[in-house]
Amino acid sequence: MRIPKFDRASKSLFVPVGSSAVAVTCRRGFFSAHSPGIMTKRVTVTRRLRFNAAHRVFNPQFSDSENEATFGKCNNPNWHGHNYTLDVSVEGPIDESTGYVIDLGKLGAIVEREVVDMVDHRNFNIDVPFMQSTIPTAENIVVAFWGILVPAVAPARLRRLVLWETENNYVEYSGD
Ligand SMILES: [Zn+2]
Repeated sequence: MRIPKFDRASKSLFVPVGSSAVAVTCRRGFFSAHSPGIMTKRVTVTRRLRFNAAHRVFNPQFSDSENEATFGKCNNPNWHGHNYTLDVSVEGPIDESTGYVIDLGKLGAIVEREVVDMVDHRNFNIDVPFMQSTIPTAENIVVAFWGILVPAVAPARLRRLVLWETENNYVEYSGD
């Protein structure tokens, strides 16, 4: 069995290929002895996704002039679209065997399936069941996404969602 070597000068651990089980054992022993607590650090990691969707922002209880005054261009009765960007952040301990909090590819696939596929190239006002009877502002969209994604990413903990509606405007939600 080849034993991993620790180079004190560079502070790196050399692990021979094909000896991952040995490496994990040695790594844990090394860090617990020399850097107490390093394996329990919680880290936030983020995956970015993009989608396009249409909406009309209006309150049916407002008059036309009130809607126009309140929502401006986003009140256009014939809809309009945005290129949205969604940043999904989850937090957790670093897995000792992978060095990851979560595989970001897997996180991306979950968000794609649970949220993006439900809204991409759709109209928030008429095509998206979970947005019915809600004014489809970025604020309300991000809160709706939160409710869907909290259980979907478990056991990872959803920490923050950031939804960009334009280059200049974004909203952020952390479940408060
Ligand atoms: Zn808009």
